[in-house]
Amino acid sequence: MGSHIELAKRTALYSPCRHRVGAVIAAGPRVLATRSNSRRNSPRVDFHHATFHAEEAAVRRVRNPAGTVIYVARVNAAGEPVMARPCERCQRLLAAVGIVGAYFTTWDGSVDYLDIARSRRAPAVGRTGSASPALRDRR
Ligand SMILES: [Zn+2]
Repeated sequence: MGSHIELAKRTALYSPCRHRVGAVIAAGPRVLATRSNSRRNSPRVDFHHATFHAEEAAVRRVRNPAGTVIYVARVNAAGEPVMARPCERCQRLLAAVGIVGAYFTTWDGSVDYLDIARSRRAPAVGRTGSASPALRDRR
């Protein structure tokens, strides 16, 4: 795990974006893809979709990511690791392609883990809009 997250940090250094993020997809010790986030559209044109997130870019490089783990690192201007928890959109993407978990750097320099496979099985509460007020309050 340690070497993969270190590789993700080094990959982040290549990002042309202000928030530099690197992602590594690995099957055990074997690295399948490394990608940093990159520019997609001018922020002036489409602020919310201005970048390809590193997770998204790495997933596109792997033919069959099912059962793999992703390592996500973000670095600040000094190259130190900062919070890189995958966003909601990337979490949905990772779950959809069968990636089981995500290690990511955090504010204090440690590495946290997100159980993607488990979050995928979580029920989509409120999707039908028919839940009673009591049920809604409980979540
Ligand atoms: Zn994302």
